Amino acid sequence: MSTQPPHWLLKRLRSVWRRWSLWGLLVALVAAMLVTLVWLAGRYEASVVQGKLERDAADAVADIRMALARNLLNLQALQSLQMGPPDAQRWESQAVALLREHRELVRIEWRTPALRLQAHANSPFQAIAWPDGARVEPHSDTALACTNARRLSGPAYSSSYFQPHGDGMGSELIELCLPPSAADKNAGYLVATYSLQGMLSEMIDHRLTRRQEVSFTEADGTRLALVGAARRSAHMFSARELIDLPGHTMVLRLDHWHTAPSLFPNVLTALVTAMSIALVTVLVVLVRDNRRRLKAERELGDAFAFRKAMEDSLVTGLRARDLQGRITYVNPAFCEMVGFSAQELLGQSTNAPYWPPELAEEYWQRQAVRLAGNAPPREGFESVFMRKDGTRFPVLIIEAPLINAVGQHTGWMSAFIDISEQRRVEELSRASQERLQATARLATVGEMASLLSHELNQPLAAISSYATGSLNLLAAVQGADAGTLQTDLQDLRTAIERIAQQAERAGRVIKSVHDFVRRRDQAREAVPAQELLGDVLPLVNLQARKLGVRVQVDVEPGLPPALCDRVMVEQVLLNLARNAMQAMDDPSIRERTLEIRVRRAASNAHSAWLEFTLSDGGIGISEETAQKLFTPFFTTRTEGMGLGLSLCRTVVEQHGGFLGHKPRHPRGTVFTFTLPAASQEGQN
Ligand code: ADP
Repeated sequence: MSTQPPHWLLKRLRSVWRRWSLWGLLVALVAAMLVTLVWLAGRYEASVVQGKLERDAADAVADIRMALARNLLNLQALQSLQMGPPDAQRWESQAVALLREHRELVRIEWRTPALRLQAHANSPFQAIAWPDGARVEPHSDTALACTNARRLSGPAYSSSYFQPHGDGMGSELIELCLPPSAADKNAGYLVATYSLQGMLSEMIDHRLTRRQEVSFTEADGTRLALVGAARRSAHMFSARELIDLPGHTMVLRLDHWHTAPSLFPNVLTALVTAMSIALVTVLVVLVRDNRRRLKAERELGDAFAFRKAMEDSLVTGLRARDLQGRITYVNPAFCEMVGFSAQELLGQSTNAPYWPPELAEEYWQRQAVRLAGNAPPREGFESVFMRKDGTRFPVLIIEAPLINAVGQHTGWMSAFIDISEQRRVEELSRASQERLQATARLATVGEMASLLSHELNQPLAAISSYATGSLNLLAAVQGADAGTLQTDLQDLRTAIERIAQQAERAGRVIKSVHDFVRRRDQAREAVPAQELLGDVLPLVNLQARKLGVRVQVDVEPGLPPALCDRVMVEQVLLNLARNAMQAMDDPSIRERTLEIRVRRAASNAHSAWLEFTLSDGGIGISEETAQKLFTPFFTTRTEGMGLGLSLCRTVVEQHGGFLGHKPRHPRGTVFTFTLPAASQEGQN
């Protein structure tokens, strides 16, 4: 046995996987977009901060350059005092003034061309412990700077060096050396010492140092001097700028701490994120909506398929018309019924092709009545349609108004049932029923033939004896005198009258049989019970006399007439009476009485019923016989046909009544059947 999962399961799994993988892809794409957006926004903000920092660094360098250039001019002015007849005192006072104005300068020296200290002034703001107190000997960096200056014939800066203050602290210093001017070679050098710390705090715009740390560093990043104390946080931005001075190059570094970029660095990012979330939400809602719509569509599809299957399997034709009478829908059964295709029928509003031309006028009127809004009878009505080949067939039409979803009446829906087959079967059964009844009646007549001869014997014997008597009287008349002639003629008249009476009686007997066989009026009519009995009693009596049965008739006075098919009911009565009498045709039975009673049966307000009872004292009906009693062709008599009771029941049931039997005490059987009373009586 194969362990492979079934094909449909694989297909379903694949489709589920495809749907979910699409979903996953979508979610991943949106997430990637979001992350990229946030990252880009962060990057942008960082670049903005970095750019600003670099601009600040450039500004700071420009500030320093400008300040150094300005100082250089002041120092050159001071150096001019060293020329001509040098004025040491003035030089010193000017140098002190300069130092007071410029805190970044810590010392100014006047040195001879041989770098011997001529005069000097110290900054009043900073006390630096020089190695030999007054720093008579030049610092090695000073000597280097001055050598450079002379070589360049312009000011030169030394590299920075650390000078302890003596109190455990110290400063990073840098020397500027101005060479003696070309005009006076003896004027000597002017050496100015800058404090790097001072340069940072004095030369740079304070707005820069407030927000960020500004420092001079060495090439390897070692800090030499630092101002500003920016608030430190996670993200540090840093910018470096070179200050290229004659003889020395310094590095200015700006450090800036920024809280951003965080996850939502700014409103833009937040906005984009919010919009993305909204987008995803809308997407999810849309997808859910879509899924619901798909489900509804699927259900609708199923319902539609179900409806279609139902319509196609229907044998009932369906047709819808709008309020203008145009055909808007026909089902396959209808098309098959009339033999036209749906295309030939749809949209038709003139004479429908299935209307027989001779009836079209009537159908138009019927349609006009319908379109005027008159609802047809709920149980439907019968009509005749024509097939494409011109044959007519009867249909049962059931119509109902078409109401749309908003409760508006939009047309009519009709259901059609082809009743030609039903008609044919009805016709067949009616014909066979009639044939059966005729046969049964003839059989009864056949049975009666012997009774007839017996019955006719009496009047015929009477007639013959009267005739003989009359002949005798006629012979007597010839020889009679006037006195007896009158009496003889009177007797003769009486005899001939009796003959006529007996002949009439015989005629009646024959007529009653003739009537019974020939009468074929099927309509139901109101017939008094007395009349029904009156018609069958002559025939019943024929047999009764032969079998020595006493017939007792008891009709309740004031009964309404029965609403029935007279001939049929008479036959029922005759059959039951005959069966009853035959049951008593047994040598053991002495007391032979047939009781026929008619009474009012249990009735309600809407209908009244008559109950006919025929009781005999015959042999009775055994349990076994009772079971087959109403089966056609069941009989216990050699000359019987076994159709009587089955026909009786059919007739009674056709009238809506009931036929039954029960045993009678001490012996015999009681047959009972009911018939509806005529309606005007029933309402009383
Ligand atoms: P048929 O009279 O031709 O035999 P029916 O259908 O009238 O056919 O009767 C069927 C049978 O029912 C009879 O043969 C008889 O045995 C039985 N039967 C009918 N009526 C009575 C009755 N009143 N008492 C006893 N048996 C009866």
